[in-house]
Amino acid sequence: MYPKPLKKLIDHFSSLPSVGPKMAERLVIYLFKQNPEKINDFAKSLAELKTSLRYCEKCFNLSEQNICSICSDPKRDQTTICVVEEPLDIFAIEKTKQFSGLYHVLGGVLENLAPGNTLKIPELENRLKNEKISEVIIAMNPTTEGDATGLYIARMLKDYPVKITRLARGLSTGGDIEYADEITLGSAIINRR
Ligand SMILES: [Zn+2]
Repeated sequence: MYPKPLKKLIDHFSSLPSVGPKMAERLVIYLFKQNPEKINDFAKSLAELKTSLRYCEKCFNLSEQNICSICSDPKRDQTTICVVEEPLDIFAIEKTKQFSGLYHVLGGVLENLAPGNTLKIPELENRLKNEKISEVIIAMNPTTEGDATGLYIARMLKDYPVKITRLARGLSTGGDIEYADEITLGSAIINRR
């Protein structure tokens, strides 16, 4: 049987997405072999995760401040909002350097929502009412659920005076924006329709 501290950590690791029990064992043993400074630093980052990181009050990106660095950057195009599923999609799109507008993180797709969670659609509508937005780019992942959510949002926004566009096809169906290569994703943004 595992010694208790080992068992506890293995349980924590195996509860993470994509980490099976074997991988959890390997990670914990790997950590045990590291020097104490490295482990303390790791533990500190983990402890600070919930105290130093929050959702941007405006776009729901991850941020150290109440308003994220993108929303508070006056050099960004304040008339375009790119709607994405998760904050990781923002990191992927930012890497392409092909988009200089603002974002809005929905927090998921219509199906597969964690219990108690809702999509930030009312918050998006509030932004359309209060900000000078002329274009909304729907950048859902090219999955069945992503497409359905994109259509739903387009319908919800049809009475607002904004142009609604979508990423160009070319991203592999069933794939994730988060994993798309920069060139493909960049051209999907430029060629949005
Ligand atoms: Zn923000």
